[in-house]
Amino acid sequence: MNLTDTIQDRALRTIAEKVEHNIPADQADTRTMLTTSSILDLGTIAQFVRRRLHGNIAFYGVNMNMNYTNICELRCPLCAFSCDESDTGSYVLSLNEVRERVENAVASGIDEIHIVGGLHPGLKLDYFERMLQCIRGIKSDIFIVAFTAVEYDYFARLNNLSVETVLRRLINAGVNATPGGGAEIFSPHVREMIAPKKISGARWLEIMRIAHGMGLKTNATMLYNHQEHLDDVIDHLFRIRTLQDETGGFKTFVPLAFHETNTRIHANRRETTGYDDIRIYATSRVVLHNVPHIKALWMYVGEKMAQVLLNFGVDDMSGTYNDEKVVHAAGARTADYGSEAALRRIIMDAGMVPQRTTAGYGAKAEVTS
Ligand code: SF4
Repeated sequence: MNLTDTIQDRALRTIAEKVEHNIPADQADTRTMLTTSSILDLGTIAQFVRRRLHGNIAFYGVNMNMNYTNICELRCPLCAFSCDESDTGSYVLSLNEVRERVENAVASGIDEIHIVGGLHPGLKLDYFERMLQCIRGIKSDIFIVAFTAVEYDYFARLNNLSVETVLRRLINAGVNATPGGGAEIFSPHVREMIAPKKISGARWLEIMRIAHGMGLKTNATMLYNHQEHLDDVIDHLFRIRTLQDETGGFKTFVPLAFHETNTRIHANRRETTGYDDIRIYATSRVVLHNVPHIKALWMYVGEKMAQVLLNFGVDDMSGTYNDEKVVHAAGARTADYGSEAALRRIIMDAGMVPQRTTAGYGAKAEVTS
């Protein structure tokens, strides 16, 4: 039986037919998927796309998270992590502290490090170059996923350099790939409410275009369940898809459900329901047919929902993330460290084959001199 014949819902059946014939879903299809309650039909379509790309494999990583400072100039209303320098609990990691944390994590067997932080006016480019060189010195083949488009833009302005120069210097110092943070939601009127001082959605996309042009693979995120409307979600997905058609540089799309504890956003929204999350992930898998991976960060959606999502279009469970700070500052109730054994068990229990990888998905980290 082909895909279309298995779909009961008439509107979703039309979308299934397109997917079977490799015709991209349009905006009306996206709206249908984002509002359907025929969740099993939607999952069947998303899973068809997922299996075509990855079969029965589900990816996970063994990695650490490092947030080098929580001091940030922007103090976005959406952020529970940042603070001012004078606040209790503010910190900047010294290079010795970086070395100690990375040495401990490497001794425990990590393959990858994920580095993001606040926008701190005192941290010039050489701090980051020395940080990256120090990490490479500890483990030469570690995969380094570092700095969002927001940080690259800030480093360029702070150091009076072009974004290209900043990227080139940090790639030379050790960056292998870029995380997808800071995309939030591209819609200008929503951005004005949740992160008014952050670079625009258009600038975020432009920095990704530059990074892709320089050969850097990146992720893209989407923050949902705050002030956005359905049209804003649709717009976000299509802008990612359009840039991907142009550059092919996005490896992974990562939807993130907003956590509002300790933020200055009170959207009067309840936490997402299970169906809300499933609709977002499954629809993303179908719409972003040109982005290879859809990742569910278990620490955002919870281990149980992340496992369910493996059968609704998701192929990557994310990693162990030793010492995650950002979403836990915003009230995530998950542990800040998932063991490799726990991730493998979750994947196998969902009927999938676990594959340990990095954000490069098997590409060995390039060692730079
Ligand atoms: S979201 Fe990022 S840019 Fe905004 S305040 Fe938090 S750390 Fe700073």
